[in-house]
Amino acid sequence: MNNSTYDIIIIGGGIIGCSTAYNLMNRDRGLKLGVIEPDPSYSRASSTLSLANVRVQFSLKENIQISQYTQQVLTVFDKEMATDRYTPHISFRREGNLFLIDAKREKIAKQALSLQQELGCSVHWWPPEEIKSRYSIYRTEGLIGGTFGDTDGHVDPHAFLRGYRTKADVLGATFIEDEVTRVITQAGCVSGVQLASGKTLKSKVVVNCAGAWAGIVARTAGVDIPVEPVKRQVFVFDPAVKPKGPLPLTFLPSGLYFRTETGGTIVIGKSMEKDPKRIEFSWDEKRFTEVLWPELAEFAPTFDTLKLLRGWAGLYAVNRLDGNAILGEWPTLKGFFLANGFSGHGLQQAPAVGRYLSELILGIEPALDLSVFHPERILDNRPVSEAGLV
Ligand SMILES: Cc1cc2nc3c(=O)[nH]c(=O)nc-3n(C[C@H](O)[C@H](O)[C@H](O)COP(=O)(O)OP(=O)(O)OC[C@H]3O[C@@H](n4cnc5c(N)ncnc54)[C@H](O)[C@@H]3O)c2cc1C
Repeated sequence: MNNSTYDIIIIGGGIIGCSTAYNLMNRDRGLKLGVIEPDPSYSRASSTLSLANVRVQFSLKENIQISQYTQQVLTVFDKEMATDRYTPHISFRREGNLFLIDAKREKIAKQALSLQQELGCSVHWWPPEEIKSRYSIYRTEGLIGGTFGDTDGHVDPHAFLRGYRTKADVLGATFIEDEVTRVITQAGCVSGVQLASGKTLKSKVVVNCAGAWAGIVARTAGVDIPVEPVKRQVFVFDPAVKPKGPLPLTFLPSGLYFRTETGGTIVIGKSMEKDPKRIEFSWDEKRFTEVLWPELAEFAPTFDTLKLLRGWAGLYAVNRLDGNAILGEWPTLKGFFLANGFSGHGLQQAPAVGRYLSELILGIEPALDLSVFHPERILDNRPVSEAGLV
């Protein structure tokens, strides 16, 4: 095998690419594996711009099982990923997720809750009085209750990504600072990638882990996937009156969400229909002052007085078909694997997705069957949707 020939090439070294690289190398240290990533600072990668929340509160069985596995991985991550070059401290804070439910969503929420409980998740139904007794600053008028997942929480996304990347590197993966300009195909199979530097790398297995850029990358191979970048904005403010203790990631029925951050600050956001569907990172504080703040202050009047500190914009890689991951080999292009379209929940899916892809590529029976997310459903126009909880 010459220098430019690889067993496997991964396009994109975000959390999905790095978890996949780690899982592959961990199973077979003899692999020649290349990860192409143009920006080692990850200034635009969704992984580092994420809120890094992890929750079992989904309504699709497989998404719940993915998160259960993630939560197991996170509890041992720092130790498992430690190398003499870097020991991650992902700071997994299990402060809980609270979904507030109005009458319109009662049936969906209760169905999801029973499935979560059936699968062994620690999620509870709280009537309005319980919510009020725990978080007295919340107004509960118009709510019929809420579901609280006490194992849900968040991590430091930088440490999470760097943990996987460093470990994959130490196990023998090669990280190449370059950009894939074209996936090369030949007679229905992938045969390599062309890079912006002018180099060509050969491989019979190419994995698309390009996040919000995945649709662009796939098109260079003649593959059309319904994945598009959508800009999302996050804001951080300092409330005049600090809440007593941490607030869980709290979701209002409107989709507005917020939680406490270190130092008593609060992070807040809301996905909106009119969010630009393109690669764009501008940040507009009017979104906060005109939309989010009034809505928040209505729900928690104590946040009437605050100081907006900062914020940022990042990209969701939205799967237009059903908002869920697309995982597996593209049916009409041998060797072209996809791990795309995670929409707003890809960071927490990285451990299970990396393990699953490594199993598919190496021909090992998957520990968790995620075939429901196979790309075939794109060609068949067969959505696999969450029941509208988020
Ligand atoms: C504001 C915000 C909040 C979020 N909150 C959460 C959350 O709370 N929980 C959660 O689970 N998820 C969350 N997400 C989603 C999550 O961040 C993503 O689903 C996840 O990070 C996707 O990882 P990735 O590796 O696919 O993509 P990325 O991290 O974007 O990595 C893709 C990489 O591909 C590289 N790339 C692009 N084009 C090419 C090319 N041509 N050649 C080579 N490399 C290329 C890019 O440089 C990039 O580094 C959030 C996202 C945003 C924006």
